[in-house]
Amino acid sequence: MREVGHFIGGKHVAGTSGRTTEIFQPMDGTVQGRVALATPDEVRAAIANAKAAQPAWAATNPQRRARVLRKFLDLVEAEYDSLAELLAREHGKTIPDAKGDIQRGLEVVEVCLGSAHMLKGEFTDNAGTGIDVYSMRQPLGVVAGITPFNFPAMIPLWKAGPAIASGNAFILKPSERDPGVPMRLAELFIEAGLPAGIFNVVNGDKEAVDTILDDPDIKAVGFVGSTPIAQYIYSRATANGKRAQCFGGAKNHMIIMPDADMDQTVDALIGAGYGSAGERCMAISVAVPVGKDTADRLVERLIPRVESLKVGPSTDASADYGPVVTRQALDRIKGYVDLGIQEGAKLVVDGRGFKMQGYENGFYMGGCLFDHVTPDMRIYKEEIFGPVLGIVRADTYEDAIRLPNEHEYGNGVAIFTRDGDAARDFASRVQVGMVGINVPIPVPIAYYTFGGWKGSGFGDLNQHGPDAFRFYTKTKTVTSRWPSGVKDGAEFVIPTMK
Ligand code: NAD
Repeated sequence: MREVGHFIGGKHVAGTSGRTTEIFQPMDGTVQGRVALATPDEVRAAIANAKAAQPAWAATNPQRRARVLRKFLDLVEAEYDSLAELLAREHGKTIPDAKGDIQRGLEVVEVCLGSAHMLKGEFTDNAGTGIDVYSMRQPLGVVAGITPFNFPAMIPLWKAGPAIASGNAFILKPSERDPGVPMRLAELFIEAGLPAGIFNVVNGDKEAVDTILDDPDIKAVGFVGSTPIAQYIYSRATANGKRAQCFGGAKNHMIIMPDADMDQTVDALIGAGYGSAGERCMAISVAVPVGKDTADRLVERLIPRVESLKVGPSTDASADYGPVVTRQALDRIKGYVDLGIQEGAKLVVDGRGFKMQGYENGFYMGGCLFDHVTPDMRIYKEEIFGPVLGIVRADTYEDAIRLPNEHEYGNGVAIFTRDGDAARDFASRVQVGMVGINVPIPVPIAYYTFGGWKGSGFGDLNQHGPDAFRFYTKTKTVTSRWPSGVKDGAEFVIPTMK
C-alpha cells in the first residue's frame, strides 16, 4: 500500500492531518494507496517555502530557467513508459492514451523553452525629448494550480511550465484521485536542477483549496475541473484580489452536414466520443446530423461500431478505452443512462451491463448510444463524462448551429462537411472557444491557446500559448528621462508629448 504525502521545499513530506483518501486502481477496483489531505497549516508551510525560494529564481535569467526545463523534458522522456503505466493504473485510461496525456503536457514545456522571447517587453525611444518608455514583464510571485483527475500529467504541466518559466514559484494541488504522476514530476524537476521550493505539490481536498484561495501570498490561481467548482474558485480567488483563470465542464457537439464523408465522420466520432471512456473535456458527447437521411445513415453505421468497441484493462494496449476513474463515476454515468431512457431518448446501444472477464470489480462501462435526444433533456444539458454519446437530430444547418450556441457550455465543437462556405460560416458564428473543421477534438497546439467560453471558462485569458505568459506575469511600464536640464528646476505642469 503506497502512502502519498506532499512535496514541499524539494522533498517528500508525510501528511500530518490524519485525513487520507484512497487511490484506486480502476482496472480491477483495488485500493493501491492512500493520499494525505493537507491541513491549512501544511498548505501555508508550502506557500512560505515557495515565497522564500521565488526571488532567487526570478533573478535567474530566463535562458537559464529554460535550460532547467530542457533537462526536465529529457528526464520525462527517458521514463515515458513507467510514467504512462503509473498514470494508467491510477486513472484507468490505456497506456497509449496515458502517453498522449504526458506528451501534450511536454509540448507546452517545449514552448516554454522560448520563454525569454515571450517575456520581452516593449521599448519606445524618445517618446518625448529625452524620454524613453519601456515595459517589462515580471513574475507574480507564488502562484497555484488546482487540477482535475482526467489529465494528471498534461494539465499540471500546462500550468507549471509557463508559471515557472516566467520566474514564479508554483504550488500544485492535483486531483486526489491520481496524485502519483504529479509527485514523480516534482522529483524530476529537482533532478533537472529546479531549485527547491519552486515546484511544490500539496495533496488535499476543499480544505487545502480554500487555504490557497484565501492566502494573501498566492497571487494567481489556475483551475481546471467541473463548472460548479470552477465558478466557486473564480469567485473566491478574485474576491480575495487574485488573478484567476478557471476552466470548467463541457458538452461538445459535432455537426454532421449532409455532404460529409460518412466513413471519415464515423471514424472521428467513435474516437472522440468513446476514447478515454469519454472522460475528456474535449470529448464529443453530442452528434448533430443535419437532415433525416444524414441521421439515418449515421445511426446505421454508428451502431455496429459502438457495439464492437473494445473495452479493456488499462494495461491492454489494444483496448479502445479502459475503465472509468471510480465506482462513484460509474454509478453516476449509469444513472444518466437510466435517466435518458426515462426522459424518452432511444437507447440504441446499451453498455451498462458490460463486465470485464477477470476484472469483475473494475469500473467498466460499455459504450452507450442514444438516438432522438432533445435539448430539453437533462442528458443533453448536463455533462455525463462517460462513454455515452447522444444524437440530436436537426432539420437544417441553422437548427444545428443553434444547439451549441444556446448551450450552457462552450468548450469545443466540430463540423464535418465538404463545403468550405458552411465551414467558414460555422467557425465565424459558433459561440464556442475551440472549433474543429473535419477535426473532432480541436485541442489547439501548444503555441496557441486553450480555453472554452460561457460555462466552460471563467476569466479572460486562456491556458498555454502567449496568454499563459500574460497570466503569469505583471507588466511594469517605465517612463525614463535623461535630459540635461532635469537638475535645473522642477516642473509643475503635467508633462505631455506635444
Ligand atoms: P472536480 O471539479 O471534481 O475537481 C477538480 C479539482 O477541484 C480537484 O483538484 C479537486 O480536488 C478540487 N475540488 C473538488 N471539489 C472541490 C470543492 N468543493 N472545493 C474546492 N476544490 C474542490 O473535477 P474532476 O472530476 O477532477 O474533473 C472532471 C471535470 O473537469 C469535468 O467537468 C471536465 O469537463 C473538466 N475538465 C475541464 C477541462 C477544460 O479545460 N475546460 C479540462 C479537463 C477537465
